[in-house]
Amino acid sequence: MINYVSTRGMEGSFSAAEAIVKGIADDKGLFVPTKIPALSVSFDELAKMTYQQVAKLVIGSFFSDFTSEEIDYCVDNAYDEKFEVPEIAKITKAGGANFLELYHGKTAAFKDMALSILPYLMTTSMKKLGVDKKVCILTATSGDTGKAALEGFAGVENTEIIVFYPKDGVSEVQRRQMVTQEGKNVHVYAIEGNFDDAQTGVKKLFTDNALKEELASKGYVFSSANSINIGRLIPQVAYYVYAYSRLVAAGDIEASDTINITVPTGNFGNILAAYYAMKMGIPVSKFICASNENKVLTDFFASGKYDIKRDFVLTNSPSMDILISSNLERLLYHLSSADELRKLMESLDSKGEYKVSDSIKAGLDCFYAGFADMDLTCDTIGKLYNKEGYLVDTHTAVAYAVCEQYKNETGDEKANVIASTASPYKFPRSVASSIGLNPEGMSDFECVEKLKEFTGVRVPKAIDGLESREVKHDKVFAKDKMLDAVEDALCL
Ligand SMILES: *Cc1c(COP(=O)(O)O)cnc(C)c1O
Repeated sequence: MINYVSTRGMEGSFSAAEAIVKGIADDKGLFVPTKIPALSVSFDELAKMTYQQVAKLVIGSFFSDFTSEEIDYCVDNAYDEKFEVPEIAKITKAGGANFLELYHGKTAAFKDMALSILPYLMTTSMKKLGVDKKVCILTATSGDTGKAALEGFAGVENTEIIVFYPKDGVSEVQRRQMVTQEGKNVHVYAIEGNFDDAQTGVKKLFTDNALKEELASKGYVFSSANSINIGRLIPQVAYYVYAYSRLVAAGDIEASDTINITVPTGNFGNILAAYYAMKMGIPVSKFICASNENKVLTDFFASGKYDIKRDFVLTNSPSMDILISSNLERLLYHLSSADELRKLMESLDSKGEYKVSDSIKAGLDCFYAGFADMDLTCDTIGKLYNKEGYLVDTHTAVAYAVCEQYKNETGDEKANVIASTASPYKFPRSVASSIGLNPEGMSDFECVEKLKEFTGVRVPKAIDGLESREVKHDKVFAKDKMLDAVEDALCL
């Protein structure tokens, strides 16, 4: 049995179902597994398995309190025809790398990989625990997470989802994706304010006891689809195991050959999932952690000091514009202890920085970190397209650029898997200008059209025809009136 404990040392251990429903531990720590299960099949057997089979194996071994019927139900509902490729996560070779395309789900970004299964994990967990309540998910979004959560929860019984986005703080494509969302249980509101206002407002709602009581009397509990939920992290381990198995199946590597994995990193969830895959038994030599100009992590891996006292830069890879990478806490916990970790987190809260011990630093040896600035990101998109005919988005370009830096520095030519986290059509303006199309004066939708005409790359369903879809959500609330929005959504 694998149990879950808080990174900050709170008493008690929890089943996966309890950890998924709670989301975050009461001492504000993150739930971590007490041990990482070993892969129970050989690489040759893995190579014959489908994505769904690998996902069942991986998720089932971490969430050992779920029955195999429960795991089957969650996986089969999550990874089905709503993905636009039958292999769910597809590898494309280009420029000497294996791009693991994680963006063929409903919103064309990799968050779909986890958010299409989280609703099923959550409702199943509630049932297992005998909690006879409906879940109300509250999310503030700067763009991608909100839409992926809406698509994940839309139509899932016993759930309602409410998403708040900053009225002028998301791109036109992102806004249209959200306001055209269909489903009886989905609610989308614009907030007059920025992302921080929306986020702060949601935190307030979570701790509003009067509201909690009112909701409880109507049979609801609040939860969050935030990336620190263990129910989002573990499903991501599956695609790294799957990627390895595909390289074996294709004969690119021998079973048990070592590979490197490069991940464009924001909150550190995706790269931590790769680390968990290694701990399960996938042979990985280096985890290459790629950042944009918000390079807190690059500096951290170089010096052992995590320092957020710096300017926040708005870049062309906005999903990685982040200074506090929450999931790093889980890695540091695995390399030290709850006592040591609590001190580090207190230091981060009070001083905006912490420095790790030499023994933690030694454990970080399998990571290499680097960053790409906006110019290098655009150049990389241009080069990959012009030389290789392969079109990538800005986040994936950051990863490829840093992977190339690593190879040049070290001469390490091991097979490299690059997590490709978004469709190029999600960031059409930056991508169009990177390959020499001049997007000035064009709307985002015109950029999509132009990119399609010029490159012939298929537009994902998530974006195709978006501008003519019916708007279903047009309510705007002041930032101090978010409670009214919840009442509107749930008809309280
Ligand atoms: C969220 C996101 C990332 C960052 O992933 P983390 O798990 O937060 O490190 C990278 N690229 C895209 C497109 C994303 O949406």
